[in-house]
Amino acid sequence: MSASLQRGLNAFREAINAPVATFFNSCVHCGMCAQACHFYTETGDPRYTPIHKLEPLRRVWKQEYTFWGRYAKAFGLSKPITDAELEEWETLVYDSCTLCGRCSMVCPVGNDITYMIRRMREGMAASGHAPEGLVGATRRAITTGSPMGVKLPALQAQIRDVEQETGLKIPVDVNGADYMLLLSSMEIMNFPEFIGAVARIFDRTGVSWTISSAAFEATNSGIQIGVSDLAAELVQRVVSAAEHLQVKNVISPECGHAYMAIRWEGPNLVGKAFNFKVVHILELLDDLRKQGRLKVSSKELQKLTYHDPCQISRRGGVVQQPRNLLDMVAQNFVEMPDTGTMNWCCGAGGGVSTNERADELRMKAFKRKQTQLNAIQPDALVSACSNCRIQLEEGLEVNGMDIPVLSLTETIAAHLADD
Ligand code: SF4
Ligand code: SF4
Repeated sequence: MSASLQRGLNAFREAINAPVATFFNSCVHCGMCAQACHFYTETGDPRYTPIHKLEPLRRVWKQEYTFWGRYAKAFGLSKPITDAELEEWETLVYDSCTLCGRCSMVCPVGNDITYMIRRMREGMAASGHAPEGLVGATRRAITTGSPMGVKLPALQAQIRDVEQETGLKIPVDVNGADYMLLLSSMEIMNFPEFIGAVARIFDRTGVSWTISSAAFEATNSGIQIGVSDLAAELVQRVVSAAEHLQVKNVISPECGHAYMAIRWEGPNLVGKAFNFKVVHILELLDDLRKQGRLKVSSKELQKLTYHDPCQISRRGGVVQQPRNLLDMVAQNFVEMPDTGTMNWCCGAGGGVSTNERADELRMKAFKRKQTQLNAIQPDALVSACSNCRIQLEEGLEVNGMDIPVLSLTETIAAHLADD
């Protein structure tokens, strides 16, 4: 047995904790999770059944943690896991899973399949079976602080442009600010207008805020690839910066998995409670709305719909806040079929967009979103995740659909009232 396979199997053994063992034990093989997964529904390929993606991990559980499995293994009646199998499963665990959580919602016995896939990725990464694109992104995140290799000078250049455009000072390294804003590399490089939108809203609503030059990156490639130590290191950078600047809150930006990583996984990863609060930008905007501080002077008149980013809505619970904000700013808002916590994933989360090998499959998975949009024919699509935004723009273009994709924060900024 190769050393890498041994490492992977050891990591599988560690990944099988009480919840994972219980989930495997509870599975009644009903197949309902298949109908919830866009990789299965859009391809009809049974290999994309969510629980099947876990087969090597299930075999390790059976062979090592169940009486009959141990018995079969001892008498050579069960197949050992091989390197070739892990290689085959690499595409199932990484290319055909966005960690969207939809399968976990429908399982009749309550199995959190998404959690299991994340645990399985720990063993896959340890055995050297992680996609090259994701390995590179994780390496860049650790060495440069950003999965896209965006360093401080690049952010500073974007800040200068935003300051010129808005006439507002973007605060950096302000000690004692109420809020520290994180940004995803994609926002910095692809959608710097998000920074300007936040600056205008915070200026108008009197929010005390800052960006940290030491830790501005929100995304966490360690979570996507499945290496908890690296995920913890990336969270710790944010914690250290927030503590250094003595801020009261950290804002997770328009990025789905960043919110899940820092808000829901962060304290467990670093092994202590944060001494600051984490809020998603939409939670904060909705609070400002409730306090009467966030006001608009006009509304979008076109027919708008909202794409719920999986990690913000389904896994993160931020479902009503975007709708409250849309109610304020949209004259003609229409829900897609299957929305809120049961929304269909855009097809690019969980590291899939970083994995070039999965490009064709990613576009197949987008077909589900196309079906949802065809049912209501909106003029524009609003969302709150820059990764979703890029996938939605690409998917719409590839399929010849002329529907602009808007950021919710930017939409609100565009309609801000003067006082
Ligand atoms: S988490 Fe989403 S993409 Fe992954 S298996 Fe479940 S439904 Fe499919
Ligand atoms: S829905 Fe749950 S019980 Fe049914 S096959 Fe999938 S994991 Fe097993």
